[in-house]
Amino acid sequence: MRYQGTVYRPPSEAGSLLIQATLGCPHNQCRFCSMYKGVPFRIRLLKDILEDLDLALDRYGPRVRTLFLPDGNTIVMKTSSLVPILEHARRNFPGLERVTVYGSARFINRKDAAELKDLAEAGLGRVHMGLESGDDPTLALMKKGATAAESIAAGQKIRAAGLELSAYYLVGLGGRTRFREHARASARALNEMAPEFIRLRTYYPTEGAPLFEDMSAGRFEIPGPYEALEELRLLVSGLRAETMVLSDHISNYLNISGRIPRDREDMLAEIDAAMNMEAERFERTLYHL
Ligand code: SF4
Repeated sequence: MRYQGTVYRPPSEAGSLLIQATLGCPHNQCRFCSMYKGVPFRIRLLKDILEDLDLALDRYGPRVRTLFLPDGNTIVMKTSSLVPILEHARRNFPGLERVTVYGSARFINRKDAAELKDLAEAGLGRVHMGLESGDDPTLALMKKGATAAESIAAGQKIRAAGLELSAYYLVGLGGRTRFREHARASARALNEMAPEFIRLRTYYPTEGAPLFEDMSAGRFEIPGPYEALEELRLLVSGLRAETMVLSDHISNYLNISGRIPRDREDMLAEIDAAMNMEAERFERTLYHL
């Protein structure tokens, strides 16, 4: 199989066939992100992508169940290119249950409702969207490329088209000075988007990200573990939409997952228990970090 660069895909796509449709990220400006820095963005030739689907058929047979199309923001591709890819995938793998892509609000909003419906009809099932924050000052500082209102509009468009929305929230992105506002505003945005999934990630600095430089220079401080838990508590207590919260990432201090509203009180109790744990015991629970 042909694959260029580092593989980035959601943990839920760990068992999926990965067929690269784009290389890099067409935005590539988020200050916290180092994933594609230095990688020039490019959309692969349609014929190469279709050829890869045929190579995958030869190699794995027709029983592929899930497919993810990296890299960052494959939703940016023209609908007239994505549809034949989705159709070809369905022809090669008749039992395909799920096809997903990454898509930021900035690029989702370039598509109209009819285009998103076409994608859903052609077999796209879910968009993994990095909301990161619903707090405008945080979004602007991090150069996310979308305001909270634009992110909400994008999320609502995805859902209205019949696609599943998997929204990512980045614990700590507001820094020590703004983590409470970041949590509250994000809960409000997520309530309006009502994604099927909210996936929690805790920010940790990675070399190559501009925010890493800010942290090294003392211009940005990430919340400590207890502050991160307080942030998480604010987020979870503010969620009203029916959704599934998943902590499917090693970066998180606490592995809390559950369905909102059903499990909210249990989740809050779990967070409270962690917040009340004495430091030494709590640190022992963080062996994975
Ligand atoms: S977070 Fe996503 S949109 Fe932002 S630069 Fe990284 S890959 Fe691109």
